[in-house]
Amino acid sequence: MSQAQHTELLGLSLQQLTELAEQFGQAPYRVRQLLDGLYRQRWSGLEQFSTLPLAFRQQLSDAGYSVGLPRTEKKFVSTDGTIRYLLGFADGQSVETVWMPEGDGGEAGDGSETGDEELRELTFSSQHSALSKSRQMAAPSCHPERAGAGVAPASRRTPIAEGSPKAAPPRNRWQRATICVSSQVGCAVECTFCMTALLGLKRNLSAGEIVGQVLAVLHDQRVEMDRDRVNLVFMGQGEPFLNYDSFMQAVRLLVEAVGIPESRMTVSTSGIVPRIADFGAEPVRPKLAVSLNAPNEVLRTEVMPITKKWTIEKLIVALREFPLRNRERLTFEYVLLGGVNDDVQHAREMADLILGLRAKVNLIALNPGPEVPFCVPTEESVLAFQGVLTRAGIPAFIRRPRGRDIYAACGQLKHTTELVQLGR
Ligand code: SAH
Ligand code: SF4
Repeated sequence: MSQAQHTELLGLSLQQLTELAEQFGQAPYRVRQLLDGLYRQRWSGLEQFSTLPLAFRQQLSDAGYSVGLPRTEKKFVSTDGTIRYLLGFADGQSVETVWMPEGDGGEAGDGSETGDEELRELTFSSQHSALSKSRQMAAPSCHPERAGAGVAPASRRTPIAEGSPKAAPPRNRWQRATICVSSQVGCAVECTFCMTALLGLKRNLSAGEIVGQVLAVLHDQRVEMDRDRVNLVFMGQGEPFLNYDSFMQAVRLLVEAVGIPESRMTVSTSGIVPRIADFGAEPVRPKLAVSLNAPNEVLRTEVMPITKKWTIEKLIVALREFPLRNRERLTFEYVLLGGVNDDVQHAREMADLILGLRAKVNLIALNPGPEVPFCVPTEESVLAFQGVLTRAGIPAFIRRPRGRDIYAACGQLKHTTELVQLGR
């Protein structure tokens, strides 16, 4: 007898589930029940689908269909409440997914409801305190070759193994949380400041594995979709636009089956130009962020070699044609690398470059890590950079670093299981 092929139900589109129900002679409403069990109840085995007839569950199982969320292999808890999950898949590969209670302010001023909320919460003093926090993690004088050397104090090394007893988190302990989701295992884009780049690309994630990360974290955090507000940022490991079809399939499931509005999602790309037009044509899509990180071709090629293939010039042309929705703004991400791209002259070049685009800029002070050969910028240079953009009429925000002590911040996702002291 031939072995049934193994297929995960998680990640199949509505259309595929409908065809499956038809194939087994099931009434159309069974598709709704399947969706409810997979995405609302977050059941992790066919035996839990008590709403479905036993015979249908048996048919699915005999045909090789199964249900499973990614396994939580490790959980690291930051002093700021951020949690980094190492989530494992059936083939032994794993990715990182980050839970940020209260978010990181990344959507402030992007024209969405979340952006408005963040804007209201943000004051100049909180921008200052974001910077002060980032300075606490960095040495005053920078020795890039030594960045990340040393061992963290025991209090910082707090992995929680799967199965550790954990109390149910109290209700309403956060107003609005953000989950940072991975789209690939590792990344093929060789940005020189990013620890994920050091992994290289291991493989793409399937739509089910992308949605599965969100479900695993929602489940662990006891999130109730009817009660809690959750935002998603596709800014974890990988380049979402180099795994476009699975990423978009995951987005549709997250909107239609999990119930997270597209207006609460942002995807960040390093600038895969042909995909920007495809993305603009999608009827359901998250907001778009572009990691610019340098204002001219020479400097950007140095820090993001992908610029050789898709130049800033082509990128800006694609963005000028991008169909923004009512009130929506593009987000430019700009990682400030001390002494490299953080001069006020770079800020002026940046302002000229994006002139006329309905856009905002998120400034991110480099999150340091082992093998990251750059320095954290000074507080003065970050504020001066922000000042130039603001005076040019471009809204510019300083992203709050979250979970730096547990390697959960932007650019630090690299299966780091041993924590080392940062930036000293
Ligand atoms: N691959 C996509 C999304 C994941 S990276 C992209 O590049 O846009 C998410 C964000 O982290 C990007 O804006 C990237 O520029 C930023 N980033 C990467 N390394 C960083 C580091 N060491 N410190 C701060 N931000 C970093
Ligand atoms: Fe990949 Fe983004 Fe890191 Fe660049 S910054 S290496 S595109 S994950």
